Amino acid sequence: MSEIHGELRDAVRDLCQRFPDEYWRKTDRERRYPEEFVKALTEAGWLAALIPEQYGGSGLGVTEASIVLEEVNRCGGNAGACHAQMYIMGTLLRHGSEAQKDHYLPRIASGELRLQAFGVTEPTTGSDTTKLKTTAVRRGDRYIINGQKVFTSRAMQSDIMLLLARTTPMDQVKKKSDGLSVFLVDLHNAKGLTITPIETMMNHSTNQLFLDDLEVPAENLIGEEGRGFRYILDGMNAERILIAAECVGDGYWFIDRATSYAKERVIFDRPIGQNQGIQFPIARAYVNIEAANLMRFRAAELFDARQPCGAEANMAKLLGADASWEAANAALQTHGGYGFAAEYDIERKFRETRLYQVAPISTNLILSYVAEHVLGLPRSY
Ligand SMILES: Cc1cc2nc3c(=O)[nH]c(=O)nc-3n(C[C@H](O)[C@H](O)[C@H](O)COP(=O)(O)OP(=O)(O)OC[C@H]3O[C@@H](n4cnc5c(N)ncnc54)[C@H](O)[C@@H]3O)c2cc1C
Repeated sequence: MSEIHGELRDAVRDLCQRFPDEYWRKTDRERRYPEEFVKALTEAGWLAALIPEQYGGSGLGVTEASIVLEEVNRCGGNAGACHAQMYIMGTLLRHGSEAQKDHYLPRIASGELRLQAFGVTEPTTGSDTTKLKTTAVRRGDRYIINGQKVFTSRAMQSDIMLLLARTTPMDQVKKKSDGLSVFLVDLHNAKGLTITPIETMMNHSTNQLFLDDLEVPAENLIGEEGRGFRYILDGMNAERILIAAECVGDGYWFIDRATSYAKERVIFDRPIGQNQGIQFPIARAYVNIEAANLMRFRAAELFDARQPCGAEANMAKLLGADASWEAANAALQTHGGYGFAAEYDIERKFRETRLYQVAPISTNLILSYVAEHVLGLPRSY
């Protein structure tokens, strides 16, 4: 690990020390957004890691950004509360007009504006994104948007949202991924938008959105009309790598907790960690986290060198999610009954890390990508 990464890790860890286990346990119990933590991370500039310096960010790579999020999770926190502020702006950065970038990016970098809501998933179409039913119809200098979104996370803690909607009906496009467009929606001036929270098994602010003749100024369209699906795909590799790093952070946290407990807990007159039945699941999980970590850094290296990295980013996400889940189970088992007691934090992190098998892309969909796009197997959908 280079010196800068050591310093970076130390700085993030210092900040995380101010938000100990009790903080996360309390916000989890109260299902409250960790506002103080997100504010501190924003003020320290970490969420602007990927924004170029000319717009007030720190111009770092995905490698460094991923280390920030890994450290948050490695310290027992949950970067899922704010990770999207790092990467959603990528669509704006790569495909927005100069005027849009000049207007929004410095404000996002300073934290004045939160762009951390991303409306893609819909109730009836799920993983089959290109079939989404939300429509945006141009009328003069506005688009009129109608439809529904589900699991739109942090919509209540964002000022603006990136929204994917169909601008050309499916039967009028050559490819199903054509005819979709991305918009910036001002969430403070959104007449026709209803946001309803969804209660989930972990503390994750996510919502159902109803869009009923929501008017969005035409100048809020990003890039060209009809090319939105390509624009969001670009950003997804960064998202996968960053989330892989969070999984790696979770994984190391579980291993630390499991090994400490296994050394201390004495049953049958010896530490439980002396039994290979306890050692081996922890050791195996550690091996898999190390492997996932290598793939995560490989994917980040390719991304930062602007090389194709779709396969590596997806594989890193899958390996990370599997490894953190394996480590979560090993830690829970090692703790016996105490693993279920909230005060040990294992059950909280167990619930949190489980999400990554499903979101932002499910494990099956990654396997399908690898099978079809890397191995050239026949397409199944
Ligand atoms: C807490 C949380 C936060 C989220 N945040 C956001 C967000 O901010 N913005 C957003 O747009 N979305 C968000 N999502 C949505 C998330 O991306 C979707 O849940 C996910 O993509 C899967 O879609 P689905 O839930 O509709 O499942 P479905 O598409 O209905 O799939 C159900 C199951 O079937 C499997 N499956 C489906 N088709 C196939 C197939 N062909 N082959 C094999 N298996 C298949 C899937 O892998 C999955 O396991 C969030 C979800 C959660 C739970």
